[in-house]
Amino acid sequence: MTLNTLTIAEARDALRKREITSVDLTMSCLTAIDAADGLGAFVHKTPEIALEQARAADARLAAPEAPALCGIPLGIKDLFCTKGVPSQAASNILRGFKPEYESTVTTRLFDAGAVMLGKLNMDEFAMGSSNETSCYGNAVNPWRRQGSNVALTPGGSSGGSASAVAADLCLGATGTDTGGSIRQPAAFTGITGIKPTYGRVSRWGIVAFASSLDQAGPMTKSVRDAAIFLQAMAGHDPKDSTSADIAVPDFEAALTGDIRGKVIGIPREYRMDGMPAEIEALWTRGIEMMRDAGAVIRDISLPHTKYALPAYYVIAPAEASSNLARYDGVKYGHRAKLAQGDGITEMYEKTRAEGFGSEVQRRVMIGTYVLSAGFYDAYYNRARKVRALIKRDFETVFAEGVDSILTPATPSAAFGLGEMASADPVEMYLNDVFTVTVNLAGLPGVAVPVGLDGQGLPLGLQLIGRPWDEGNLLNHAYVLERAAGFVAKPEKWW
Ligand code: GLN
Repeated sequence: MTLNTLTIAEARDALRKREITSVDLTMSCLTAIDAADGLGAFVHKTPEIALEQARAADARLAAPEAPALCGIPLGIKDLFCTKGVPSQAASNILRGFKPEYESTVTTRLFDAGAVMLGKLNMDEFAMGSSNETSCYGNAVNPWRRQGSNVALTPGGSSGGSASAVAADLCLGATGTDTGGSIRQPAAFTGITGIKPTYGRVSRWGIVAFASSLDQAGPMTKSVRDAAIFLQAMAGHDPKDSTSADIAVPDFEAALTGDIRGKVIGIPREYRMDGMPAEIEALWTRGIEMMRDAGAVIRDISLPHTKYALPAYYVIAPAEASSNLARYDGVKYGHRAKLAQGDGITEMYEKTRAEGFGSEVQRRVMIGTYVLSAGFYDAYYNRARKVRALIKRDFETVFAEGVDSILTPATPSAAFGLGEMASADPVEMYLNDVFTVTVNLAGLPGVAVPVGLDGQGLPLGLQLIGRPWDEGNLLNHAYVLERAAGFVAKPEKWW
């Protein structure tokens, strides 16, 4: 066993006991990364920064009370601004952009002694479910179907993060989730991913996609690791006006494994027509595991669920079109070559036509349309009303005593890269059917690997919690993780 295969909790304990050093642990990850270019997970490697941070962490670990993440090597999604290190949101329009500042999340991680191995692949501006919209080319899932060498998607938009964690290139990675981008890739790669309550983690210094939906969170090899990692990321930040001034409890201490008497809601609207039998069976098994652990299972209704995807695909593009207006060829990154006689309009148009990929352009067009004077009420305002109803559905069931809600994480296992290329974009959007409601309602949601499908690919379930209740939510996830006993790893081919 090499050190890169450790979990964060295992490495933390071994580092504190001085059984291993952060430099050795970091070297082990750097070696694994260099041998895994075929996964397309890391898009900017930062070995010098990593080793410098690892040496500093080892010095700090000589004293007692080093923070939990001290000396732990992590990957950082390319959406996070990291000072002096390319931060491109996987877009050509940000080519060459090296921020002058560090995001709040990475600042917190580095202050806690974490080690940055490099930046991770993702869909362009976090728009996508397969990592195929990236300007760097797609990331690849380390998992393959049994007896097949077809390359599969690691999911998206945090595809590089998922692939890197699943392949043991790092001990954990940051992700962001606007409609499912932490949970769907976690489910596709057999790892854990939590999207915290909106406002739990600062968005400052994270390239904005849809500001009222975006939240960063950890992607890890275990639920315990997610608790430790989230602890280090979370907390109030005066630089983000939507960050909540609420105390961050000890998430790891919440992992008692005891959920006796807790009420787990099973929403009937999530039993979609045409849902594959394997997903249905996995969900049933998850329900049984929670019941066996002493939880009370209750059928619930979230009646506005069917409007969630349409509402999301109005609100998210609307906010994106506004957020992406800043990429004009003046302030950041790329500017198109101009012809004689071109003016400022041509500069904007040519720069944005060259710099944005087709999915981003599609979102900007949809967003601009739904916000336009003639259609604002018909689309954007209506979607906002639907969003309020979706939020109310959740508030109602939580008020009736439901502690968490168990659903599938994704409607399928990982699909083949390129498989959706000729499909209607809406086919791709259907990936988020179980996850977008959570972002629209601002709730915490976690994906946990629970089993393998008939072709040997990981499948996950999702637990949705009450706002600010990540501790209990993670405890429920911990119970599910232990009952499922998911220990499978992808067979190394890369
Ligand atoms: N797949 C969704 C989208 O493309 C969600 C992306 C995300 O959560 N960042 O909008």
